[in-house]
Amino acid sequence: MRVLLLEDHRAMREMIADHLKERGFAVDAVARGEAAIAAAGVARFDAVILDLGLPDIDGMQVLASLRSSRAELPAIILTARDSIDDRLRGLNSGADDYIIKPFNLLELEARLRAVLRRAGSPRGNTHSLGGVTFDSVTREAAAFGKSLELTRREAALLEELMRVPGQVITKDRLEDRLYALEDSGSANALEAAVSRLRRKLTAARASLQIETKWGIGYRLVEGGQV
Ligand code: CA
Repeated sequence: MRVLLLEDHRAMREMIADHLKERGFAVDAVARGEAAIAAAGVARFDAVILDLGLPDIDGMQVLASLRSSRAELPAIILTARDSIDDRLRGLNSGADDYIIKPFNLLELEARLRAVLRRAGSPRGNTHSLGGVTFDSVTREAAAFGKSLELTRREAALLEELMRVPGQVITKDRLEDRLYALEDSGSANALEAAVSRLRRKLTAARASLQIETKWGIGYRLVEGGQV
């Protein structure tokens, strides 16, 4: 899942971004409203978390701008403003949730997952197929009950594939969901991650296969081993 984070306070921005990255999200973190609008123009985000008091454009205006091109984009407003007027303004402007600083990172993460669930993204926090289970919250994968050691990226890849079993996901879409703009270094990063994940699934005797649809993308299918 890919999240756009707009927060001008550097320490706060880095703390949230680090936490969410550790928890398996791809995060594009920006400090200014203009940068958020520009990022949303080139990438498709699953959700936006935004501060209201910003150096350039008011957060409410940024949200209105993001929503003008994608009305259903899940949004969480993060702010120190705690008056009832501001809260109502935030919720009336279409934010899905409103969190007052200071807040707990685990609570922010839980609320983010809740707005993503309401938006119809993942059906739940646990996925299972072909003897493999993956828990989106704990980020733990197992094959037939035995823990699978995956890197953060491999876990995110497995999660994306398990969310839509049997369906082809295009390479562009996967790259978009797994890699924030700052990560897009190597052109073969996705292929390499797929190869590593395949090896680990094979070694664990999982009855799951990642099929390559040449020139299109990948899909996860049940079967193969026992
Ligand atoms: Ca601020």
